[in-house]
Amino acid sequence: MIALFAVTDAGRRAAAEVASVLDARLHELAELAELWPRLDGAVFFLATGATVRLVAPLLGDKHTDPGVVCVDEARRFAVALAGGHEGGANALATRVAAVLGAEPVITTASDAAGRTGVDGLAGLLGATVDGDAAAAGTALLDGAALVANPLGFPLPPLPPVTGEPRHTITITDRLAAEPGTRLVPPTLVVGIGSARGVPAADVTAALQRLETEHGVDLRAVRAYASVDLKADEAGILAAIAPAELRTFPAEVLAAVDVPNPSEVVRAEVGTASVAEAAALHAAAELGAGAPVELAAEKTKHRNVTVAAARIRPRGRLAIVGLGPGADDLRVPRAAAELRRASVVVGLDQYVEQVRHLLVPGTEVRVSGLGDEEQRAADAVALAAKGLAVALIGSGDAGIYAMASPALEAAGADIEVVGVPGVTAALAAAALLGAPLGHDHVLISLSDLHTPWPVIEKRVAAAAEADLVTCFYNPRSRDRHWQLGAALDAFRAHRPSATPVGAVRQAGRPGQRVWTAPLADFDPAEVDMLTTVVVGSSTTRMVAGRMVTPRGYRWS
Ligand code: SAH
Repeated sequence: MIALFAVTDAGRRAAAEVASVLDARLHELAELAELWPRLDGAVFFLATGATVRLVAPLLGDKHTDPGVVCVDEARRFAVALAGGHEGGANALATRVAAVLGAEPVITTASDAAGRTGVDGLAGLLGATVDGDAAAAGTALLDGAALVANPLGFPLPPLPPVTGEPRHTITITDRLAAEPGTRLVPPTLVVGIGSARGVPAADVTAALQRLETEHGVDLRAVRAYASVDLKADEAGILAAIAPAELRTFPAEVLAAVDVPNPSEVVRAEVGTASVAEAAALHAAAELGAGAPVELAAEKTKHRNVTVAAARIRPRGRLAIVGLGPGADDLRVPRAAAELRRASVVVGLDQYVEQVRHLLVPGTEVRVSGLGDEEQRAADAVALAAKGLAVALIGSGDAGIYAMASPALEAAGADIEVVGVPGVTAALAAAALLGAPLGHDHVLISLSDLHTPWPVIEKRVAAAAEADLVTCFYNPRSRDRHWQLGAALDAFRAHRPSATPVGAVRQAGRPGQRVWTAPLADFDPAEVDMLTTVVVGSSTTRMVAGRMVTPRGYRWS
């Protein structure tokens, strides 16, 4: 039994909304002590302090206490106050929050980082939830749900099963007999062929046969396909509306290998298969490299044939830039991708920077400086095994960083998602003023990956082309003269007053920003944690800020 307690009008209104959905009742505070032993959960529409004082004398031990949830007057938060796991308060707070459009506040260690619930999982997969989502969600958060993933979707870490499993959540595009909740992901493409002038009802009946004869769930259908000849076939278009029909030339479909070709069809249409071939071809196109298979062979109803192809899931590699260091200079999608991953690969210092964002259970593979290629290869190999992997790097992970070695090694057997990050040049520029307001270039002075003569040539070209130039990897203990040589190249082409800006540890503790005229800039102050920005001939200092004019007049 779940009891609700409210003392204000707003509280009573919120309680009434919760009551109708959760099968719970509003009670008087005076009844609390008497009800307590029989309660499964108690929701207080009160401040946490008031709630604590009310329940404190009643609390016994966590194995028998009900879950206690507290909702604030403005109904912004549903706080799981006590009995998070065994009392079910975490799950109750999540459900109450869902009803009220509030934020669930969950503080138990294993859940604090915001586990992926059933809705979250469905969202990641773009899946439809079929079954009792609330029961599945509660069981998942309680560690009492088994997740079956027969197609092998790359999933984030899920709550460990700690108790007697009482619920099964199956990720499938098949209609299943097993009890439990199903997440139906959009994996299927249905191919349709027909005679001219078929009624929509026949198409609908044929589609139904995919369910009755092949057990595929039509909610998993992501697209419909056919041959060009059928692009305006009214019965098909009406049956699948509002979905669209993708069509392909007969000769394209003729090249697709299918199990059930027909010579009669070939003679009429120019391809021995329409339904199977169109399903497979469209699935391959949509899957962009994902493996494709027939989920339901050609099935006929009257003058309509249908078949379903499945786009199989692939492992997932997210290449995530973390920005220069400050939490609020990291794009929100980076955190989402870190939480989506079951394995995070990266340099130790960057992993530490985001460890608090990871879902409990995330596997972390750290490595030291240097073995960049090995790290990239590891990440790719893990994704190729079907896992959800995040490869992290500072700034943008594609700028003098891990994305290149990773994608040189990655095949079409994995899905790759890039999340851009604020690169050092942008972080530095924002601190310096507006140095990048006109054409600019990034040059790394590291000769680890590039021979010095090549770097020298590019530096000279940038100097001559009057480009604002950002130097990455400007100077290290063993590489101390290159920045000076580069600045000399610029001195030959730009006024000696041209501003040079430098930022060390942008967005990190100990950040330092300074500028000097090109003639006086001292390379000795620069190290590997610094980005140097050399202005163009038009760059000026304005009120202490480095500004490169846009260079045109408004008319
Ligand atoms: N992927 C990174 C760059 C890696 S190369 C990015 O997009 O920012 C490493 C160089 O980047 C350093 O030598 C330094 O020149 C620059 N850099 C990286 N982070 C920086 C920061 N927080 N402040 C200043 N420069 C930084």
